[in-house]
Amino acid sequence: MTSADDFPVPGSEDPDIAAGSHDPIPYVDGNAAAGALSEVFRIDIIAALGRCRHCGSIRAFGEAMVFTDAPGIVVRCRDCQGVLLRLVQTPTRYWLDLSGLSYLEIDREE
Ligand SMILES: [Zn+2]
Repeated sequence: MTSADDFPVPGSEDPDIAAGSHDPIPYVDGNAAAGALSEVFRIDIIAALGRCRHCGSIRAFGEAMVFTDAPGIVVRCRDCQGVLLRLVQTPTRYWLDLSGLSYLEIDREE
């Protein structure tokens, strides 16, 4: 699988951070990832708070930038554009990379 990690951006300290604003790639908000992620998580991921490993920003997952024009779903931080989450689905498996999140804070259902 090819990913942004394989091609570090010159001049960027973190290869997970996007190349810059000069090459905008279309994205949608975190709600667009809800369907696929609801198959993996039995929780309300959209309302969960996540902390970005790259910049420390804490936001509701629904505020994240979701890129679907990829082999899977790529979710990036709205503040620094660092990769928070990647999800690839095959007919038999999910591949989930959460390494861009320090944590997820999830409300327990009463
Ligand atoms: Zn960030």
